[in-house]
Amino acid sequence: MALYDGKATREEPHDEDVYVCNACGSIKIEIQVWVNANTNEYLSDVDDDDTDCKWCADCEQSQNFCTLSDYKQRMEDWWKDLDFITLESITGLHETDYSSEDGSQSFIDACNEWWNGQDYDTQRELYFKSQS
Ligand SMILES: [Zn+2]
Repeated sequence: MALYDGKATREEPHDEDVYVCNACGSIKIEIQVWVNANTNEYLSDVDDDDTDCKWCADCEQSQNFCTLSDYKQRMEDWWKDLDFITLESITGLHETDYSSEDGSQSFIDACNEWWNGQDYDTQRELYFKSQS
């Protein structure tokens, strides 16, 4: 992972402005557009409302899109709802290695730290696999 300086961070698009596949969260999504047959100049999208015109290269099928921020929120909700057994199998951490005096909060904290240390592609793969 590269470290961003302040300038580069500001140039990153906001999550609300980025569309991803509604199913798998991939940013490798495509839409059908009309282009001028002679000049290849972009004219318009084929149909914004029609899923058939939207394509996810990772799913290799037509998919609806959602914003990256919506998808991340869905992943966060999923992560927070996981039981300890699932958390242990995903993170490789063991609840018994942590103090139970605080209601296993230190285990939860360690799991959350692990989760936050994963990049987006790893997170969405874990999330997507769990949904199928
Ligand atoms: Zn997809």
